[in-house]
Amino acid sequence: LAAETGAAHCIAVSNATLGLQLAVRALGIEGEAIVPSFTFPATVHALAWEGVAPVFCDVDQASHTLDVAAVERAIGPQTRAIVGVHAWGQPCDVEALEELARRRGLKLLLDAAHAWGCSHRGRMIGNFGDAEVFSFHATKFVCAGEGGAIATNDDDLAARLRRLRNFGLQGTEVVELGVNAKMSELAAALALTSLESQAEFVDRNRENFAAYERALAGAPGLRMRTARSADRRNFQYVVVEVDPAAAQADRDQIVAALHRQNVLAKRYFWPGCPRLPPYQQAYAARRQPLATTERLCQRLLQLPTGLAVTPAEAARIGDYLHGLLRRRRAA
Ligand SMILES: *Cc1c(COP(=O)(O)O)cnc(C)c1O
Repeated sequence: LAAETGAAHCIAVSNATLGLQLAVRALGIEGEAIVPSFTFPATVHALAWEGVAPVFCDVDQASHTLDVAAVERAIGPQTRAIVGVHAWGQPCDVEALEELARRRGLKLLLDAAHAWGCSHRGRMIGNFGDAEVFSFHATKFVCAGEGGAIATNDDDLAARLRRLRNFGLQGTEVVELGVNAKMSELAAALALTSLESQAEFVDRNRENFAAYERALAGAPGLRMRTARSADRRNFQYVVVEVDPAAAQADRDQIVAALHRQNVLAKRYFWPGCPRLPPYQQAYAARRQPLATTERLCQRLLQLPTGLAVTPAEAARIGDYLHGLLRRRRAA
């Protein structure tokens, strides 16, 4: 993993949630941390489980990642860290976040669960912030069943992370409070088969992506998120935003119609972290509105891709969706 990312250290762990928790501990983050309100709940769970109060910050409409101006406004006297998320493998504005973190004396932790194999301005994800955490869950680009890794270029942090994931052991001696967050051999073997096939995965994902793009071009009320970039992308997520007025159907109606055709479209991230029972407090502690998160949680859907979907099938799904919206429009 270190060779692939170019990071000095990649510490394999049992899953990304525990990876984030270990990173929070090893970085000594306490008090409050700013986190995007638009993310998978595990990003926020990891903070809350470590006793760090999450403060929700809205995301940028174009990138779906942290709105850096909003992050700066959200910094309060207890803020110790910023946690960014590379949503859909789209790197967040890492330069601006690194600059802000440095200027305000904050740690910067990055949730790279979606971003294995992606780069930013020629540098692989895994080299930004204080540490970045990948997920190798079965639904992610690299599949270990359950698994993850923490990438960092900080030698001391890496040594501490290695102790923390292994009961606090240094050699045969326990030197601090650790936990068991090691990746199992079985999971590692599975992940290696995935890594061997990554070029094939990216090719298929890219072909499916292009097939969806062609089929959905001009579909009323639908906008597919572009994955085009000079940088490396894994094309793992096909994300479509529904404008209910223009589509004359809302996202949930469209997902239900796709399900009736046995197409496993998904609402991501629904209902959105701010609406989850554990996060009422964080919602109250937000320092500004979360309008973009609210809109994205209402409007986004994800279409199936990966090796189980052929480009011809992606085209059929796209054509069906396009036709459905045209018929609604005509009715
Ligand atoms: C999947 C995911 C996680 C959690 O990863 P696990 O390995 O399942 O713990 C964290 N953050 C994001 C953004 C995710 O999509």
